[in-house]
Amino acid sequence: HLGLHTCVETTGQGCTKAWNSVLPHTDLCLVCIKHAIPEKYEQITRTKKLDRCLKFLKELEKRNIPWWCRYVVLPGYTDSKEDIEALIELVKNSPTCERIEFLPYHELGKNKWEELGIEYPLKNIKQLKKSEIKWICDMVREAFKDRNIPVTAIVDPTTMDYMEMKGNVHSTESLACLEGPGNRFLLFLNGCAARCLYCSNPDTWDETVGTPMTVAELIKKIGNLKNYYINSVGGGGVTVSGGEPLTQFAFLSCFLYAVKKVKPKMCIIIII
Ligand code: SF4
Repeated sequence: HLGLHTCVETTGQGCTKAWNSVLPHTDLCLVCIKHAIPEKYEQITRTKKLDRCLKFLKELEKRNIPWWCRYVVLPGYTDSKEDIEALIELVKNSPTCERIEFLPYHELGKNKWEELGIEYPLKNIKQLKKSEIKWICDMVREAFKDRNIPVTAIVDPTTMDYMEMKGNVHSTESLACLEGPGNRFLLFLNGCAARCLYCSNPDTWDETVGTPMTVAELIKKIGNLKNYYINSVGGGGVTVSGGEPLTQFAFLSCFLYAVKKVKPKMCIIIII
């Protein structure tokens, strides 16, 4: 009886009995659509269960439960114009779809297959960058402009053009010495949902304002002074504050990834 929002991530399988048990308590489903064409669905999942998934979407519609479409863009399997047109058709038939998210293929699971002694079936497929699926997002956005459905690409910093990721920066300090050990580059990000009585940075609350900066621009600033950080007594580094820096978590993860990639031993602190 916590009264919290509930969300189930699913491929839209299971039987009617399962749906009757689970869906009355579900506010939102994240449904991974493996493919919208039966033969290709079978090629990816090695099952013939697209029909079941379509029935599941009908069940969501009947119960007026919203769902978000998730679709992995896998080169040679799910990324042809025909594949995307079929996906658009599928979503058009489902009025409760609220959002479409594309996940560019990445190899993050490859090691686990190998550790489990299972041959990885996609050895020769290269990882995709966010920029490589832009045409898909644009095409789907255009198809759903009347329904105003957000269409986004969900990316992991290890596979994306992380240096081009933009965040809303409140301000930076090049030589801070109170927020962690040694000399530090201090980054203030905009955005905070709290309204603490003693807040000294209410000008950081609004996530939508600030100076848009790319990770590359920030890394350049840090790089110019990196010796001051690395050689400072106590071991300097980078500190991220706000606002609440996790508000812009996608940007933050790219920034931290870039800092570590440029200087693996750089000590990073996040003030939350
Ligand atoms: S920025 Fe910090 S102090 Fe200010 S409202 Fe947010 S959490 Fe509270």
